[in-house]
Amino acid sequence: MNYSDAERFAAKLDELGYKETANDKEADLIVLITCSVRKSAEDRVYGAINNYRKKKLYPKVKKIILSGCMALRSEVLKKTDKADIFMDIKDLKVLPQLLKQKAKSLEIGEYFSIKPKYASKFMAYVPIMTGCNNFCSYCIVPYVRGREISRQPQEIINEVKDLIRNGYKEIILLGQNVNSYSPELRAQSSKLKIKDFPDLLEYIAKLPGNFWLRFITSHPKDLSDKLIRVMAKNKKICEQINLPIQSGDNVILKKMNRHYTVAHYKYLVRKLRKNIPGIAISTDVIVGFPEETKKQFGNTAKLFKEVKFDMAYINKYSPREETAAARLKDNISKAEKVKRAAALTKVLSSGALENNKKLVGKTLDVLVISRGRKGDWIGETRTSKMVKFKSEKNLLGKFININIIEAKDFGLIGMLTKK
Ligand code: SF4
Repeated sequence: MNYSDAERFAAKLDELGYKETANDKEADLIVLITCSVRKSAEDRVYGAINNYRKKKLYPKVKKIILSGCMALRSEVLKKTDKADIFMDIKDLKVLPQLLKQKAKSLEIGEYFSIKPKYASKFMAYVPIMTGCNNFCSYCIVPYVRGREISRQPQEIINEVKDLIRNGYKEIILLGQNVNSYSPELRAQSSKLKIKDFPDLLEYIAKLPGNFWLRFITSHPKDLSDKLIRVMAKNKKICEQINLPIQSGDNVILKKMNRHYTVAHYKYLVRKLRKNIPGIAISTDVIVGFPEETKKQFGNTAKLFKEVKFDMAYINKYSPREETAAARLKDNISKAEKVKRAAALTKVLSSGALENNKKLVGKTLDVLVISRGRKGDWIGETRTSKMVKFKSEKNLLGKFININIIEAKDFGLIGMLTKK
């Protein structure tokens, strides 16, 4: 979401006549689009603001804007007064006034309708909703982003059509929980009538053009059979899903207010794998949640062994003020959290390697996304695996076919197919 917020912010600043610089020593305006999910990310922001205020290091900086989740938290305002403007990303329309410029050259609509300044020429994030109603006990998002608001389908479709027309190859639909997307039906034309996320996904997947489609992220409690059916029958939707488990122990899941059990999660994984052959499943998990015993952590490691995720974002628990879990004692030491995260990474790595070995010898569709430090190209498969390969040609942003010759735990090595 922050990536997408930053693209909208950049577009507004462009309209106001600001020029982007890759060198922050040159900047007179610094905008920090922040995330409050983890304490470590917030601490880095405080450090960055302090640095930008050092005249010797950044002599040109005149204004610092703090936006994103942190800007909405009263705790943050108590901890730093060094930013000049604290603003909700949804208030971009008042940016000219905040920067004391005239708004006359601007035509400012609501947040969603701002045409973003996409950071890439071939991959784009398209927000379909904002906020969250779930109140997982450790998570600050509902407090800072507010309740769910679904973007109108026509607006999303128009943005996607525009991207396809401009040659974009990968479109990623974004929401804190895309599975609870529920747009107003009254406001839609009779031709559209999109009721839920699978309807929206299928509509977009049927648009003509040479692109593929992904989405993040899906709450397991809301993952429907309808979504699995739509994914299975539409070739443009990539065989990949991020399905955050958060813990492999039912007691901890209950304390996290997640509303599903480990058995239900495993049932979803089986259903996904049966209906969408070759699907890659990634997850998010928290280790060291308050009072997580060694046995409970062991249940998470056991689940990882069984499921064999392709990727996981392993987070060490840190309490966030205002959340329900912050009232529990954060009684797992930092060292123990580090140990649990390392142990889980080991299990993850062995499962992911096993999955990747099955791809050796296959020819895969790949979108070339960047060039590595040693000159190798980096591509991304439909299952979101990174593939390194060599080529003399500039293939950035192109779909190509790659023969996989070697598997690593979190990546693949391949060779360009001869056509
Ligand atoms: S679903 Fe839970 S973890 Fe995800 S944003 Fe909402 S409250 Fe946070």
